[in-house]
Amino acid sequence: MSALLPVADGRTTWAAARRLLRPHRGRLALVAGLLLLAAAAGLAVPALLGVLVQTATTGGSLAVVGACVAGIVAAALAAAALGALGQTQMARVTESALAALREDVVDRVLHLPAGQVEAAGEGDVVARVSGDVETVGEAATGVLPAVTAALFSVVVALAGLGALDWRFAVGALAALPLQLWSLHRFRRRTPPVYAEARRAEGDRAQAVLQAVHGAPTVLALRDADAHLDAVAATSRTAIAAEMRGATLVGRFANGANLAEALGLGGVLVAGYLLVASDTAGVGAATAAALVFHRLFGPMGVLLFQADDLALAGAGLARLVGVAEGSPARPAPPGRGTGVPAITLRDAAFAYRPDLPVLDGVTLDVAPGERVALVGTSGAGKSTLARLVAGTLQPTAGRVDVGDVPAHAVHRTRPGRVVLVDQDVHTFTGPLAADLRLAAPDADDATLAAALDAVGATWWADLPGGLAEPLGPEGTTLRADQAQQLALARVLLADPPVVLLDEATADLPRSQQAALDTALDALLAGRTAVVVAHRLDQAVRCDRVVVLESGRVVEQGAPADLLAADGPFRTLWSAWRGAGGGDEGVTPPTSPRRSAAPLR
Ligand code: ADP
Repeated sequence: MSALLPVADGRTTWAAARRLLRPHRGRLALVAGLLLLAAAAGLAVPALLGVLVQTATTGGSLAVVGACVAGIVAAALAAAALGALGQTQMARVTESALAALREDVVDRVLHLPAGQVEAAGEGDVVARVSGDVETVGEAATGVLPAVTAALFSVVVALAGLGALDWRFAVGALAALPLQLWSLHRFRRRTPPVYAEARRAEGDRAQAVLQAVHGAPTVLALRDADAHLDAVAATSRTAIAAEMRGATLVGRFANGANLAEALGLGGVLVAGYLLVASDTAGVGAATAAALVFHRLFGPMGVLLFQADDLALAGAGLARLVGVAEGSPARPAPPGRGTGVPAITLRDAAFAYRPDLPVLDGVTLDVAPGERVALVGTSGAGKSTLARLVAGTLQPTAGRVDVGDVPAHAVHRTRPGRVVLVDQDVHTFTGPLAADLRLAAPDADDATLAAALDAVGATWWADLPGGLAEPLGPEGTTLRADQAQQLALARVLLADPPVVLLDEATADLPRSQQAALDTALDALLAGRTAVVVAHRLDQAVRCDRVVVLESGRVVEQGAPADLLAADGPFRTLWSAWRGAGGGDEGVTPPTSPRRSAAPLR
């Protein structure tokens, strides 16, 4: 099977981020202005404190002191308010950009070829649309605005230091080497420790779940102590791993603190030298030291949240990979270029290399023909239907729909093959919206006709009719009603090839006959493969194909197979013996041609 879904490279990710942010340029300029003002107002606090010190040391007037104090209070309030406003505005921008990306990703995932999703595994798809969206979302609304504000503060403060005297800025740079080294060491050492911690937590959860799920057995066998020991041992390992992580964080914090002390020392030494040489006043030296001290917070944010940003960046690349790397939204479904044939040539399939499920299946389904697949459970019927649907790819041989390999149909001719199985999903929302998934432009009369055609006349009794909300807020459909809804969607989508995998097996007996009539209408004029659980459904098809252990063992017109003493006749007798067709199914009796020989 092929690889996971694509991941965008750095350049594509940046380009996508820029494109997502482009509609918000105005607000981003506002954010930059607000954060710049906030940083400048923040800088005014130490600057005014410096003036205060200078005034006190040179015996200045009390009025200046009062003005400075008032200025400091005003600057602190303004810095806090502007910073908060800037960060909120930024969160609004990133939130709506992310909402656009999330819509894109979900839209693309819904239209991904089923084969690609199958190959990538549901886990990868779910991880992207939930886990990555969450990681990027948290970073976009929390970490990113905080880091941006911190970056503005650091840059503006360094510029302020330089404006006081460039030598203060040089003194402050004494912090940089140790900061970079600590960060480098932290980033190099943490991934294996965090991975180990996650593994250890997984083991602990597994041990707990095993003990809980198997509690009755564990207690019956008086094996509780052994299980408690296992939980305790895995817990100790998990705690040790957590502690190693916490130690690394502590060391990193120590390094960062030491770097700040070095930087502050550098600024103070520069101040001492400048004051001693009369190049700067005590007030300026005090202001410089306080400006640098104010940097501790923002620098901490930058150092400690860099990893969260890196993680969010990786998540963004995975989201952009799906949003940009997948084929475009398919054209609306429909007949396209006529009704195609289905051709299987020596097709084989195995879920595991050592266990072939289908072996050398050769089958031709003519355009418009309806073929029933029958056989005992596990014979490979559903697997064959999935090969034709293109959600699985043959491990050997060919499976074509028309002149295209089945697994490529979704990409090249979307909407031409529809598979309905027992696993029917009903979407929350109005009934009409659920139906319009298949035919977005259909009017209410068309939707109602489709429901009536598949026997779903119950829709007219719903309090809201077609507008009735489905799901917990409104009506919850029974399994058989959901299946009828799925069939109505097929009718509306109007695909030339329909695959039904025991799609009506859940229906109560009383409704089966009505639905069979509806199926006749639904499948007329389409190429259809019906995995038939009920053999009375098989005999309504043009041809019956009997599968046994992944091979075609018999095929022919239903009446012919019933007349012959072969596998289908055996299945039919067993089914009737088990109560199948109690309600008077009459097998077709007029053989049109003799049964095909066993393959
Ligand atoms: P049928 O529809 O005739 O009951 P299936 O095609 O569902 O048969 O299954 C054929 C064989 O393949 C069975 O042995 C089944 O256990 C196995 N099988 C089906 N699906 C999977 C899967 N996803 N992974 C592994 N084995 C599977």
